[in-house]
Amino acid sequence: MAADTTPDPGSGSPHRLGTIAVTAGRPDRTPDAPLNVPITMASTYVAGGPVEYGRYGNPTWTALEDALGALEGGRCLTFASGLAAVATVLDLVGADGTVVVPKHAYTGTIMQLADLESRGRLKAELVDVTDTAAVVAACADAALVWLESPTNPALEVADIPTITAAAHEAGAYVVVDNTFATPLLQRPLEDGVDLVVHSATKYLAGHSDVQMGAIITGDDELYAVLKGRRDLVGAVPGPFEAWLTLRGLRTLHLRVERAQSNAQELVRRLAEHPALSEVRYPGFGGIVSIVLSQGEMAADLLSRKTRLWVHATSLGGVESTLERRRRWKAEAATIPEGLVRLSVGVEDVEDLWEDLRDALDGCVG
Ligand SMILES: *Cc1c(COP(=O)(O)O)cnc(C)c1O
Repeated sequence: MAADTTPDPGSGSPHRLGTIAVTAGRPDRTPDAPLNVPITMASTYVAGGPVEYGRYGNPTWTALEDALGALEGGRCLTFASGLAAVATVLDLVGADGTVVVPKHAYTGTIMQLADLESRGRLKAELVDVTDTAAVVAACADAALVWLESPTNPALEVADIPTITAAAHEAGAYVVVDNTFATPLLQRPLEDGVDLVVHSATKYLAGHSDVQMGAIITGDDELYAVLKGRRDLVGAVPGPFEAWLTLRGLRTLHLRVERAQSNAQELVRRLAEHPALSEVRYPGFGGIVSIVLSQGEMAADLLSRKTRLWVHATSLGGVESTLERRRRWKAEAATIPEGLVRLSVGVEDVEDLWEDLRDALDGCVG
């Protein structure tokens, strides 16, 4: 990786994050070299090299891993989905170990933990992640402290440095699911966190056309263990998906900036709307959760009434989407029935507002 702007993990780059998003993971600058890494479709390689087989490595993954590693400040491994990355981290927990996890963590993460617990593999201890003292107390018997901040879709924020210090004192690893914030708004490895997890499906790829996950760590031993698990289990990404995610990453800073400024403007205007009892926003990022005063039916009506906003699950794409989260059986019962999660895209904010306002006007009383 020759682009001289690619920092060695942990060594600090001469450039800022928006520049790293554009420059990291490029081929060497030799005459007639392509500016972009090619998509290498290969299940096997000529014998004698360090890779040998398609499950062990791929040059297109490597370019993406270099770029994402540079953005988070560690070494990156990519996976077939966010949940494949989550499963690989949970696999670090020894028999009977305790995992501390926010009760409002992503439903798939909670479901994996419940499944492992029901099979006697580990124990999950659900916490209110905004109650720092309670989380710190729970760290005492933990093998792994799972943080997601902001949480999906409650948008609660954790005190990452304080919890990380307490977890390390107790000898536990700390992981942050950084899907919502992206490395542009939050870099957990700088707070001493051991592992960062992403659903690259969301903001990193950013165009609702890829399923992919990633783990980033600053710890070489953990990296080797996780690489060993990926080699063995085989939840590897496709080369085309890796290429699309790297292409998406090139505009991550532009998309996140625009989604965030759109979200901030919408939050200001939504605060006044009579159809809503609550607007939740952590102050940064592109996800906003609104609660309809009239509950479930009004929230379902809103999902049907918008013309520009698309009724769809997932988030972090260029297009604005919305969904009532409790339409999923797996969503926590403590999430209000009338909560609609908005994933604010990069469209013109006036169009987003007019469409949302008109739909909400039809959901009052
Ligand atoms: C979507 C999501 C995941 C799971 O990622 P997939 O790519 O869907 O497997 C994990 N964590 C968070 C916060 C998510 O939003």
